[in-house]
Amino acid sequence: MSTDKIVVDAADICCASCGIAEVDDIKMMENDACDLVKYCSDKCQQDHRPQHETMCKERVAELRDEILFRQPETSHMGECPICFLPLPLDHQKSVMQSCCGKVICHGCGYANLLREREEHVDHTCPFCRHPNPKNMEESNKNKMKRVEKNDPVAIREIGKKHYQKGEYQIAFEYLTKAADLGDASAHHHLSIMYQKGEGVEKDEKKELFHLVEAAIAGHPNARYNLAVNEERNGRCDRSIKHFIIAANLGHDGSIQALKGCYKHGDVSKEDFAGALRAHYAAVNATKSPQRGAAEKYLAQNAHRIVYNYLFRDHSLASTAQPIAPQLSKLYLLQAGPPPGR
Ligand SMILES: [Zn+2]
Ligand SMILES: [Zn+2]
Ligand SMILES: [Zn+2]
Ligand SMILES: [Zn+2]
Repeated sequence: MSTDKIVVDAADICCASCGIAEVDDIKMMENDACDLVKYCSDKCQQDHRPQHETMCKERVAELRDEILFRQPETSHMGECPICFLPLPLDHQKSVMQSCCGKVICHGCGYANLLREREEHVDHTCPFCRHPNPKNMEESNKNKMKRVEKNDPVAIREIGKKHYQKGEYQIAFEYLTKAADLGDASAHHHLSIMYQKGEGVEKDEKKELFHLVEAAIAGHPNARYNLAVNEERNGRCDRSIKHFIIAANLGHDGSIQALKGCYKHGDVSKEDFAGALRAHYAAVNATKSPQRGAAEKYLAQNAHRIVYNYLFRDHSLASTAQPIAPQLSKLYLLQAGPPPGR
C-alpha cells in the first residue's frame, strides 16, 4: 500500500515522460484524459503516448464506470416544486405547466382545483399563477416562449411533439438541444431514435452514449435498457448493478428483472432483499394523501375529462394516439358535463 502512495505522489509532481519535477518555474499540465499522469509539455505527452495509451484507456473507462455506477440520489423526475415530494416515475402522474415549465404532481394540481372552486376563481397554474391555457394552441405558444428562454424541459416537450407526428428531423434537433442542456429524458429519447434509426442512421455507439448520459442523470428506463444490453453481451455482473440502481429509484421493471436473476442464483439474497426494500421505500416516498385523493378523482371523472378533451381540441382527438393517458396531463382539472348531456 505504501508503494502505491509513493507512485501517486511522484505522478503528481513529475512529468511522466521526461521525469522533470514540478518546481516554481516548471508547472505540470492537467490535460491528460486520465488521472494517472501529468506532463510538463504537449511534446512530452505526445512522446509518452505509445507507452501510456493502453493504461490510459483502461483508467478512463474505470473513471467513467465510477460515475456510471454511482447511485443517483433522485430519479431524473426530481421533486414537485410545491409539495417537495419526489415525483412518480410514471409521467402520467404529473403535469408540465406550459407557462413556467414546472412539473407539478397531480396531488398539488388537485388541491389547487379544490381551492379555486371554493373561492370561485379562474383556473391558474398551481405554481406561478399564470392563467391556464384555453386550448392547445395557447399551450404551445407558452411552450415556445419557454423554448426561447432555453428551458430544456420545454425544448424536449416540443421535440417529443414533433416525434409523435413522425417529424423525426425536427424532433432530433430539439431533443439534441435539450440533451446538450442536460435533460435526461431527451438523452433517453435520442437513444431510442438511434436504436430505431428514426431521422438518423442506426448507431449503437450513439444509442449507448445517450443511454449512459440519461442513466447517470437518474433515468431508470435508460438504466434498465443498459442492463438488458449488458445481459445480452454476457456481462451479468454489470447488468445486475444497473438493475439494482434502477430498482432503488423505484423502477418496477428492474425489480421484476432482479426477481428473475435471484431465481437463477445470479444475485445474492442480501442484494435482492436490499433492492426490494429500497424499491418499496422509493415508491412509497412518491405517495401522499393528497396524491391519493387526486388519483381517485381522476378515476371517477375520466369520462368528463375525455369529453372536455374531445370538445376542446378536435385536431388532437383525431390522432391515432391512445387518448386516455394524455388526458390527465392536459385537462386533469377541467371537469365538465359528461358526453350526451
Ligand atoms: Zn516532460
Ligand atoms: Zn492518461
Ligand atoms: Zn406536489
Ligand atoms: Zn406556471
